[in-house]
Amino acid sequence: MQILKETLEQLLIYLKWQKAMGLKEIYLSEDMRRMLSALNEKERFLEKIKEELKDCNRCKLYKERNHIVFGEGSANARLMLIGEAPGHDEDLQGRPFVGAAGHILDNMLNAIKLNRKDIYITNIVKCRPPSNRNPERDEIEICKPFLLKQIGIIKPKIICTLGSVATQTILETKTPITKLRGHIYDFSGIKLIPTFHPAYLLRNPYQKRGAWEDLKLIEKLYKEPF
Ligand code: URA
Repeated sequence: MQILKETLEQLLIYLKWQKAMGLKEIYLSEDMRRMLSALNEKERFLEKIKEELKDCNRCKLYKERNHIVFGEGSANARLMLIGEAPGHDEDLQGRPFVGAAGHILDNMLNAIKLNRKDIYITNIVKCRPPSNRNPERDEIEICKPFLLKQIGIIKPKIICTLGSVATQTILETKTPITKLRGHIYDFSGIKLIPTFHPAYLLRNPYQKRGAWEDLKLIEKLYKEPF
């Protein structure tokens, strides 16, 4: 199924290129049309949510942010990563996990032979909290519906929450991440695997073993048929 999706994505890029080069018509079967428009639809819906957020001032975080960090990656991802909130670098670039934590995250993904274009990455809140403090309850409550819409559109097979804020928010619990990780949860039919936040692993390298176990579990589930 994943291979089919990737092939269709490539085909879509190819067809767009052909159109740009002046090709006027091409025959597509009904099935092919439906599949291609479903692929496009997810991207369109994500764009709509992004539009909805535009210049957001629903919570106090807008006051100090430079960019809203909506999220990025494949709209057809089987794996969705959810972090806590943008940091300094993410706020400047408008992209998730591009700072030091992002570097570790890339290494974690590489270790299970995945990269950013295969997956989708976003955060619980889309604007940087001042001085990288944890997002507050009201900020999370206001931003969460946008995350839930992203999840509803992408419908990944697996969600991996990174760290306690993301995991506790999604699972609606106060249990510490050290207790939550190591288990698979069900989130509206999606397999949810919590792990440590990459920034936490930087400060606590002895926890890397647990993170590795979580990654291996993700790799195994990712490869299984949908
Ligand atoms: N930490 C997060 O939780 N998210 C980011 O995007 C960057 C750092």
